[in-house]
Amino acid sequence: MANPNDYTVGWICAIVTEFVAAQNLLDEKHDLPMHVSRGDDNSYTLGKIGRHNVALAVLPDGEYGTTAAATVAANMLRTFRNIRIGLMVGIGGGAPSRRHDIRLGDVVVSAPRDGRGGVLQYDFGKTIQNQAFQITGFLNQPPTLLRTAVSSIRAQYENEGHQLDQTIKRIVTQNPRLRKKYQRPPASSDRLYQSVITHPIDSDVSCAELCGDDPSRIIKRQPREDDYEDNPAIHYGLIASANQLMKDAQVRDKLAAEKDVLCFEMEAAGLMNHFPCLVIRGICDYSDTHKNKQWQGYAAMTAAAYAKDLLLRIPVENIQAEKPIKEDVGSGAGSGPGGTGSGVILPEGNVPGGIGSGANGSFGGNGSGSGPGSGSGGNGSGGIGTGGPGGMGRPPTSSPSVCLPHVIELETGLILTLS
Ligand SMILES: [Zn+2]
Repeated sequence: MANPNDYTVGWICAIVTEFVAAQNLLDEKHDLPMHVSRGDDNSYTLGKIGRHNVALAVLPDGEYGTTAAATVAANMLRTFRNIRIGLMVGIGGGAPSRRHDIRLGDVVVSAPRDGRGGVLQYDFGKTIQNQAFQITGFLNQPPTLLRTAVSSIRAQYENEGHQLDQTIKRIVTQNPRLRKKYQRPPASSDRLYQSVITHPIDSDVSCAELCGDDPSRIIKRQPREDDYEDNPAIHYGLIASANQLMKDAQVRDKLAAEKDVLCFEMEAAGLMNHFPCLVIRGICDYSDTHKNKQWQGYAAMTAAAYAKDLLLRIPVENIQAEKPIKEDVGSGAGSGPGGTGSGVILPEGNVPGGIGSGANGSFGGNGSGSGPGSGSGGNGSGGIGTGGPGGMGRPPTSSPSVCLPHVIELETGLILTLS
C-alpha cells in the first residue's frame, strides 16, 4: 500500500475519459493509498511521472462544476498532506478567433494576463442590463514553480516542437482497447461553423449529416501540413470557468473578443483559490451548439500528455522546496468587525491570500508584489472574504474601479460581486 505522505503532485480530472488518459501517462502505477482521511470518498490512482509521485483523482460520476471540483480538491489535500503543486487536466471548449487559431485537439494552458490570474470566473445566471453573463472573478495565479515550468516548456516547443501526438499514438498502439475512443479523429471531422449556424437542439443527428460541409457555412482554415507547425498547437491565455456549459457561439465570441478568453470549462473556478493549480485543457469542441463527443478522448490525451511533459521539466528537489498547499490555504485571516482586512502578506504574490470569514466578515489576506514573467505589476492575489458587513481588504496596488453594475473590480485581479 502507498503512503499518502509520499505524494507531492495532485492531478484532478473531471470525467472518467480524462482519468483514463491521465492513468495512461503514468510511468508506473502504485497501489492504493494505505489510508485516507475521514470523509474522503475520492477515487484515486497513484503513480509516478519521472521522479514525481502523483495522486490522480476524478470527480464523482455525474457530478460537474466548481463545487464538486472544490470538494475533490479539499478531500485530496486532507489525505495527501504533502501535495505541493496542483494540476487540473482535462477537456474544454475552444474559443477560436482571428487572434487564436484554436483547433480540436489543441491544448489551452491557463496563463496570467495583464497581472491577472489565468482563470476568469463568470456566471450566466444573472442577467444585468442585457448582459447575458457576468464576470464574477479572476482567480489566483498558479504557483511560480508551475509558471516557470510553463515558460521553459514554451521555449522548448518553440525551438524543437513537441512529441505529444507521437506519445498518444504509442499509447493507443500499446493498448488497442483505447483506440476507438482516444486516437486522433480524422481532420475532416474538425468543423468550425460560422457563429450564426446552429445545430438543432436535442437532435441526435451528427453535424456531418445535418450541418454538412458546405464551405459557406464553415470557417475555412488552412490545414496544418507544415512540418514545422505544431499539431496539436499549444495556446496560453485566459480560461473561462462557470457552472454551466458554454454552448453558444455568439456569447463565446463576445467573451473571446472582450476578454481574450481561449477556452471554456466548468471546474477550475472551484479550485483556484483553495488548490492553486495550473489548468490544462484539451479542446474537444468549439463551445457552440455543434458540441459532440467525438474528439473528447483525443483531447483528454493531448492535455494529459502536455501535463506530463510539463512535470518532467520540474526538478523533484524544487517541488520538495515548496510548502505543501495545505499550509498556504487560509493562512491570512480577516480582522475584526467592520475593519480592514489584514491578512498575511505573502512574498511574491504568487500564493493565495487567506480566506476571511467569520461573524463580521471582513476580507482575508492580500497577496502582494510581482510574479515573474507576467507583465505589469500587481500580480498579487487577494483573498476572498465571506460573511457580513465587513471591511475590505486593501489591494496592494491601485484603487478599485467599477466594472459592471454591482461588481467592484480590484486591480489585483479579485472582483467582488456585491449583489
Ligand atoms: Zn452541427
